[in-house]
Amino acid sequence: MSTVISNIGELVTNDPALGEGPLGLVRDAAVVIDGDRLAWIGPATAAPPADDAYDAAGRAVLPGFVDSHAHLVFAGERAAEFAARMSGQPYTGGGIRTTVERTRAASDEELRANLARLIAEMARQGTTTVECKSGYGLTVADEERAVRIAAELADEVTFLGAHIVPAGMEAADYVALVTTDMLAACAPYARWIDVFCEHVAFDAEQTRDILAAGIRAGLTPRLHANQLGPGPGVRLAVACGAASADHCTFLSDADVDALAASDTVATLLPGVEFSTRQPYPDARRLLDAGATVAIATDCNPGSCYTTSMAFCVALAVREMHMTPAEAVWAATAGGARALRRTDVGHLGVGARADVLVLDAPSYIHLAYRPGVPHVAAVWKAGRGVWPISWADKSGL
Ligand SMILES: [Zn+2]
Repeated sequence: MSTVISNIGELVTNDPALGEGPLGLVRDAAVVIDGDRLAWIGPATAAPPADDAYDAAGRAVLPGFVDSHAHLVFAGERAAEFAARMSGQPYTGGGIRTTVERTRAASDEELRANLARLIAEMARQGTTTVECKSGYGLTVADEERAVRIAAELADEVTFLGAHIVPAGMEAADYVALVTTDMLAACAPYARWIDVFCEHVAFDAEQTRDILAAGIRAGLTPRLHANQLGPGPGVRLAVACGAASADHCTFLSDADVDALAASDTVATLLPGVEFSTRQPYPDARRLLDAGATVAIATDCNPGSCYTTSMAFCVALAVREMHMTPAEAVWAATAGGARALRRTDVGHLGVGARADVLVLDAPSYIHLAYRPGVPHVAAVWKAGRGVWPISWADKSGL
C-alpha cells in the first residue's frame, strides 16, 4: 500500500542536504509513503503515482512530533492540586505519592485504557513517537506492571522506579530494592533507566548507584536533573553517558559547558514551568553554547498535564526565546536525538513514515497561532491515525 502526499506548500525535512536551512525546507514538494517508510521525496511536479493520493493543498508538512519525556501509566488526576498551586502554594513533588496510591489501586485494564487515551490524544495533535516512564507503582509488582503495559503501546519505555521514595520506606532500603529485584523485573520491558535526581527525591550517590545498576542490566541512562534547584544531576548525566538530561531549569556555567561538550541532549519541558510557575530554562544559553536541545511535554497528572507538543513549541518561542525553527527542530529531530533514534524526527527516503500535515501554510504557525487546532492529518509508521475519516477512506 502506497500513498502520495502532493501539493505540499512547505516541507520540513530536518535534513539540510534536502533543502534550505537547518530544517531542510523544500517548497512545492511531494512525498510517497510505502508501507511504514517514506519511499520518495521531491518536487510535486515529479511525484510518481501511488495506490492512494492525499492533496495537501499548499499546507505545511512536518515529521511527526517526538515526545521524548512523558509519564503516562497512572490513574486519577490532580486538578485540585493545580488550583491550589495557582492560588500560591509551591510545587514540591510531594503530590506524586497521591498518584501512586491511585495507580496501585487501579486494574491493569484501567491503566491500559488511560495510556491508550493519552497516546490517541497525542496522535491527533501530531505526536507520532512517545516515550513513557513508570514511576507511580514503586513496588516490584506495580513497577513491573507499569513498564509491561507501557511496552504494549509506547514507542520507548523507561524504568523510573526511582521517582520518589515511597511512604513508609527508608531511602537506603528503597534504593536497594530498585537496584535489585525491581530492576530485574522491569529491565525486560524497558530500554532506559531514569532517576528523579533532586533534593526531594534521590541524591547524587543514590542516583549514580541506580544508573550503574541499570547499565549493568543493559539499560541506557536518562535523567531528571536540575528541575527544582541547582544540583549535581546534569553533570552526573553527562558523566554516565546519559542520552538526555531532562528539565535543566537551574544550570551553572559548568553544567552548560558539560552539556555542550557531550552527546547528552538537554531536554527542556516548558509546560512544567508554565504549570508550576517556575522560571523557564535558559534555552538561548544552551543553544548559544552549542548544546543539543529537545522539547518534550513531561505529560503527567501533577506538574504538567498537557499532551500538546504545539503548546510546548509556542512556550519555547515566547518564553525561552527560541526561534520557531529551533523550537520545531527541538520538538522533532531533537526528541529523536534524545531517544537515540535515527528513523524518526526527520523526513527522507527510508525514514519511518511519521507525517504531520499542518492546517497552515508554514511551521511558524505552531508558535504564531497558539492554542488553535493545527493538525489536518497524521500518519504514524505509514498508518493514517488522524483524522479517522481519512484513515477510513484510505482503508488503513
Ligand atoms: Zn518527568
